[in-house]
Amino acid sequence: MANKRMFTMKIVDSDQFLNMSIEAQCAYFQLCMRSDDDGYLRSWKRTIRIIDAKEEFVSELISNGYLEKKSENVYKLPLFKETTGYGERDKQRHTKEYKKWRKEVLKRDNYICQMCGKPNSNIAHHKVRFRDCYDDKNIVYDIGNGVCLCKRCHKIAHGGGNYING
Ligand SMILES: [Zn+2]
Repeated sequence: MANKRMFTMKIVDSDQFLNMSIEAQCAYFQLCMRSDDDGYLRSWKRTIRIIDAKEEFVSELISNGYLEKKSENVYKLPLFKETTGYGERDKQRHTKEYKKWRKEVLKRDNYICQMCGKPNSNIAHHKVRFRDCYDDKNIVYDIGNGVCLCKRCHKIAHGGGNYING
């Protein structure tokens, strides 16, 4: 579950989506907020208890293709990426500008992890989370917004919310 999600008009403004009941639409937003980054809801029973969506609206989402049952306690949102713009974000990581930004950050830090000092480190980490800045070129490609980290420290940076300079 994320604290923050983006929604694009692509799915939620489609006729098919808008033709569903407002309760099913509302349940969909709740489920998108509460899913993991791949659109999986892995504690379905708990989630449905919290949002208290009636069975008929869950069925409505399923019959319209916005929700899939994987097992008793696991459900999937097949259009999650399109709904939240994740596809766009992935594309942004493969641009020329992104590669240039990465190289410059690593070069500036001499491939040394800026948290633990490990040499030959090659992860360019965004201080302002990539997911929060990928659509703002002034931030996402700002060398000052990057820092070289090793694999281990990068994990730590993303795990405990322990970001360097936020
Ligand atoms: Zn390190």
